[in-house]
Amino acid sequence: MKQRTVLVIGAGASGLVAAITAARQGAAVTLLDRMKKPGRKLLITGNGKCNLSNLDPELSARCGSSGPIEIVSIPSGKPASPAGELFRSFGPKETISFFEELGVAVRAQELLVYPRSGQAQSVLNALTAELDRLHVKARYNTEVTALTRSAESGQWTAKTEGWSYQADCVILCCGSKAAPQTGSDGSGYALAAMAGHTIVPVLPALTGLICELPPLTAGAESEETLSLSLAAGARSKAKLSLSLDGHLLAEESGELQWTDYGVSGIAAFQLSRFAAKALLQHPTVLTKDKKGAVHFQLPMTLSIDLVPDQAETEVRAALQRMIDHSGGTLPRKQLLGSYVHERVAALLASSLSFEGAGGPDLASLLAANLKKVVLNVSGLRGFDQAQICIGGVRLAELDPLRLESRLAPGLFFAGEMIDVDGPCGGYNLQWAWTSGHTAGLAAASRI
Ligand SMILES: Cc1cc2nc3c(=O)[nH]c(=O)nc-3n(C[C@H](O)[C@H](O)[C@H](O)COP(=O)(O)OP(=O)(O)OC[C@H]3O[C@@H](n4cnc5c(N)ncnc54)[C@H](O)[C@@H]3O)c2cc1C
Repeated sequence: MKQRTVLVIGAGASGLVAAITAARQGAAVTLLDRMKKPGRKLLITGNGKCNLSNLDPELSARCGSSGPIEIVSIPSGKPASPAGELFRSFGPKETISFFEELGVAVRAQELLVYPRSGQAQSVLNALTAELDRLHVKARYNTEVTALTRSAESGQWTAKTEGWSYQADCVILCCGSKAAPQTGSDGSGYALAAMAGHTIVPVLPALTGLICELPPLTAGAESEETLSLSLAAGARSKAKLSLSLDGHLLAEESGELQWTDYGVSGIAAFQLSRFAAKALLQHPTVLTKDKKGAVHFQLPMTLSIDLVPDQAETEVRAALQRMIDHSGGTLPRKQLLGSYVHERVAALLASSLSFEGAGGPDLASLLAANLKKVVLNVSGLRGFDQAQICIGGVRLAELDPLRLESRLAPGLFFAGEMIDVDGPCGGYNLQWAWTSGHTAGLAAASRI
């Protein structure tokens, strides 16, 4: 029987696993990437330590598409999210075995899975060694600019600057537009569109939230120019709540980093996914600035609880004791500074509103402000600052169990270029491994 030929475009996390899986099934595999070396993004994951999976039992529920939630009917029975169904056949357990067989020992830090070496490089080395062992033809510095399928033979042709590659099947694994310096410049979407696919609008996610302070209320005392840069550089343990038009979109707790543009840190990153998804559901004018940040005008707010482990009454009582002990001499900034970084205290002290007689007492006012700082959210940091994108190739146009195009037979997809995304914490790499494995298996065994 003729050996099946499979062309994998993109040698990132999903493409490397797709190529290995297809080659293990006996296919003749060629792997192309526009960068000089494979796995550029993989090397910077988890700050170079590569958080490669997550043992969260709710893994599939926390990964999803950005359009109206697409529940795809699975032939085997009850409807399920396609990501969930695929995680069941090649999830964290199978991924860990896959890497351990390749010589990557892993450890779990709570639910987060890392290579024991503490180096993403060891994960990449193992994958490329396996490509060599399986005689996958890897061609780097090779950008695919066009993709066509012969209606007569069903053969696919990928055009590059100097060559055309033919294959029975193509697996598109070109990533998103996030971190374009690693190779994923969004050109994969154009290739998918050439094959007739719809691209759900792509927005940066797992990135910083651009925020503004709400206008000062009447009676506010502002000695310094009021801006977020007052707090820049400070870190706070906080609970964040993101709302649109007063409706809660998502909540997240963790360390918050204050910046001159707004807020960053894992908790803010997690909420940026929900902010980006809300932009797709609520049509609005998006503008981009020179740095690539996306700006919008929506009634979106971020409410920050800076003392998440104490009730407001406890905070108030503690502040009252400090005020009484000092005979009322402690300045507001110092009182606030007993709970938060001095720069955040300075920001709060300069933005507090002091109402006249009949207004709240000082301890109540300070406690209320520590428990609820409200910022207006007006943008998302750009693609070059984002870890992932939401949006991409529309899921409903793919066979949910094989990730094969329903529009163009023999064309498969994997990784971030599909409209599936997850939070920080190993979920996105797990999707890359899972979808790469699924597409590689299906492409090599296609009848
Ligand atoms: C800073 C940072 C940290 C992260 N940390 C984590 C983490 O710890 N855990 C986690 O789960 N996720 C993490 N992520 C997200 C994760 O890295 C991605 O979701 C994952 O790598 C996506 O894999 P992929 O194969 O879909 O795409 P990519 O890894 O982006 O690979 C796509 C490849 O396709 C190539 N390509 C694109 N277009 C073409 C073309 N036209 N022709 C030829 N080649 C092309 C690119 O050069 C690239 O090599 C992080 C991301 C960033 C940016």
